[in-house]
Amino acid sequence: MMLGGLLLYLGSRHLNDKEAKWWALGFVVNGLSLFVFALNTPDSWELPRNMLNPLALGASSVFFLIGFWKFGQQPIRIWLLVLLMAFPVTSIIAWEVLWPNARFRVLCTATGYVVFLLALQQALTSPVRSEYARTYQRLRWGVIIYLLVYVWSYVSIAEILPTSARQSLDYHRAIFSLSSLLFMLTLAVGCLALKFASLAARNSDLAMRDWLTDLLNRRGYFAAVESQPTSHRGSHNSNYLLAIDIDHFKNINDAEGHAAGDQVLQQFAQLLKTFEGDNRIVSRMGGEKFLVTLFHTTEADALQLAEDIRQQAEKNVVRLPNQKTIRFTISIGVHQVSQPEKIEQALAQADEALYTAKRNGRNQVVLQ
Ligand code: GH3
Ligand code: MG
Repeated sequence: MMLGGLLLYLGSRHLNDKEAKWWALGFVVNGLSLFVFALNTPDSWELPRNMLNPLALGASSVFFLIGFWKFGQQPIRIWLLVLLMAFPVTSIIAWEVLWPNARFRVLCTATGYVVFLLALQQALTSPVRSEYARTYQRLRWGVIIYLLVYVWSYVSIAEILPTSARQSLDYHRAIFSLSSLLFMLTLAVGCLALKFASLAARNSDLAMRDWLTDLLNRRGYFAAVESQPTSHRGSHNSNYLLAIDIDHFKNINDAEGHAAGDQVLQQFAQLLKTFEGDNRIVSRMGGEKFLVTLFHTTEADALQLAEDIRQQAEKNVVRLPNQKTIRFTISIGVHQVSQPEKIEQALAQADEALYTAKRNGRNQVVLQ
């Protein structure tokens, strides 16, 4: 486990992921708690060993929870973390130092671990991305099953269960040890699976977005259209495409340089983002060509939106680092997606409308 924790840490060191470091700490400290437990120490070491074991177990619970909260973008609940440390501290002060009682000490630490398992299964209820849902579900089942075995083992070992429900102590201990081992393995594999899933999700996000403007690129656009609810895609007649192109963009590049052109693209993309919404997709289709796709709307609204964008672009002033200012205009082709049309055909039609706007003198909206 300690090795697993170190591997997790080394593997994620270069990424700016905090959760993997917390998980890694959790595994290392959890391993430590069991390691000291198994040591064959002289009697004089008994007290520090009995203190280190519950403290390390409590600390590893805290680290694991923080890791899962960070991964799930959930708030850090300080009170719960304090509670998780309060159990081992109480177990040491009360049942080790003041009134030595091994049974109570162990039960007190175990209660803290039950609180941890309950909190952990709670943290696994709502994944931030659908890609994590399966791993979350499996891990959660693992936690719940282990929780049941854990409670059963402890009430048996502590002789709380009625004698008739108890097996021999060794039997309980064997099941408990085995299930603890399996649980830690499940947790380790689960954390690694989540790490892989998040890396895959990050790569897929990067592949879908244009690095300059952070808008969806062509690939991202098609994926976004695919993932629209079918109620949106089904009623083609109320879907509109707005093909947008910056006028005489080459002149900006030629006169002010490529960097200035990039700045214009970024600023215009920012402007377009303000028009994003539930039934709208904004994307950069390449070069200085952008696309706004509207679902479930009327012709009047689509034209109004196109006109708003055109006017906003006209008003927009780009200030270069050398304090020079650039203004630009855009042309927009609006096309209503008809029932039998494929998306590629509809895009070509929107382009036709855009070229008409260009031919007619630019800085205008054309519906076609
Ligand atoms: P029109 O009004 O007909 O659209 O003319 P235009 O000059 O805008 O169009 P044209 O297709 O002639 O030129 C587009 C230019 O955009 C050419 C290309 O070098 C430039 N360009 C494409 N992508 C980028 C980019 O990412 N950054 C910068 N700075 N320029 C780009
Ligand atoms: Mg252009």
